[in-house]
Amino acid sequence: MTEVNQKTAYDDNNIFAKMLDGDIPYHKVYEDDKTLAFMDIMPQAKGHVLVIPKQKTADLANLEPEYAAAVLMTSKKVMQAQRKVFEREGIIQMQLNGAQSGQTVFHYHIHLIPSSIHELGRHAVAQADQSELANIAKQLAAAINDA
Ligand code: 5GP
Repeated sequence: MTEVNQKTAYDDNNIFAKMLDGDIPYHKVYEDDKTLAFMDIMPQAKGHVLVIPKQKTADLANLEPEYAAAVLMTSKKVMQAQRKVFEREGIIQMQLNGAQSGQTVFHYHIHLIPSSIHELGRHAVAQADQSELANIAKQLAAAINDA
């Protein structure tokens, strides 16, 4: 019988864990004691941001309540900044659990994508220009600071 409640093991060497440990560079949008938000390196639309908890957990199954709350509060901040910077209402919130769903990095994260479900680009395929990512991160960070 298939085990449907299996836990996805947490690998300390995943790319987001390395970011939290300061070993890998990223374009930061926001950080507080429980969360970090940064630009997705292979965006599905311009302005694609990832929000992660500082709790090291692979997916939603083991996300602790305090981190679940914190990651949503940070997502709200980021989404409001995206609305302001990109002058659009439509922002997709997406989150994948397990390889079968298409999850590729096994540290829990929320995707915030200024796009429509009907126009969404392909998942984790094409790298964006680093200077464009840096520029967008700066604009979003400023919008959060101004709020
Ligand atoms: P998942 O498939 O796990 O839901 O999403 C993982 C996301 O992480 C993808 O959208 C992918 O583009 C992004 N990603 C993968 N490697 C890196 C990286 O090294 N840096 C950043 N900033 N994003 C990454």
